[in-house]
Amino acid sequence: MIRLNILRMFCRSRTLLQPDSSLREKVSFSRAFTCACCASKKDNSCSIGNLQQRFVLQDLSAKREVGVRYMCTTQVFFNCWNCKELLKQKPAFFCKSCQVVQPPYEGTSYFNIMESDCTFTLDTQKLQKKYLQLQRLLHPDNFSQKSEREQEYSESQSALVNKAYETLLKPLSRGLYMLELQGLNIEEGTDSAVNSELLMELMEINEALDAVQTPQEANEIGQDTKGKLADLTEQIDTALNKGELQTAKALLTKMKYFANIEEKVKEKLSSFM
Ligand SMILES: [Zn+2]
Repeated sequence: MIRLNILRMFCRSRTLLQPDSSLREKVSFSRAFTCACCASKKDNSCSIGNLQQRFVLQDLSAKREVGVRYMCTTQVFFNCWNCKELLKQKPAFFCKSCQVVQPPYEGTSYFNIMESDCTFTLDTQKLQKKYLQLQRLLHPDNFSQKSEREQEYSESQSALVNKAYETLLKPLSRGLYMLELQGLNIEEGTDSAVNSELLMELMEINEALDAVQTPQEANEIGQDTKGKLADLTEQIDTALNKGELQTAKALLTKMKYFANIEEKVKEKLSSFM
């Protein structure tokens, strides 16, 4: 139940409201209050008045931590560090009252930062537009005449927006991040998803790519790979929507290999230029 509440706070996507049942059995939560802004653990509020909760995900079978999440509770109210006015927006980049830049709030997801739907098939054009808009506002150059604190906040906000944008832009990193939000780390046991059939297929493609003589041949492999990646995107979206996290994880591992091939095709093509 706790898990469900967390996910509801984190992201409104129906994907994340239906966690994989096998995972739910393995994972339990221990809770401690801390603040992502000032790292205070003394009580449940920080120097700028944010209430912050830290959730530790534990894999009971392995008796180890599998992830830590920071997020605010629904009761949290933010105040401007400068004029103390209540900030109604989360995340708030600027105070609407005094227009001063605010510190980054690390408890929010990249989807929230970019005001994007928390879905695997997000609108990348909209994402790019939002990115340019935020970077225009937050770019540290705009703050060169401001106080040291404002300069510092603009730098960290701008870096956070960069990170959020880069993570969400490509399907692979976006998918991995969505799993990470759910406490799944793809680095662990990555190879288990690679069966011998896939290994053979990858080997054949690599051999074909090595033997390529013309740009046309490289393009053909590139088109095939694009098709595979498009299929995988669809399958991953379906798996995430159904809350089948382990399936999504296996498919993302596969995607990682085909994304590698796509890169190799690009290298090959540029070698013909
Ligand atoms: Zn203010």
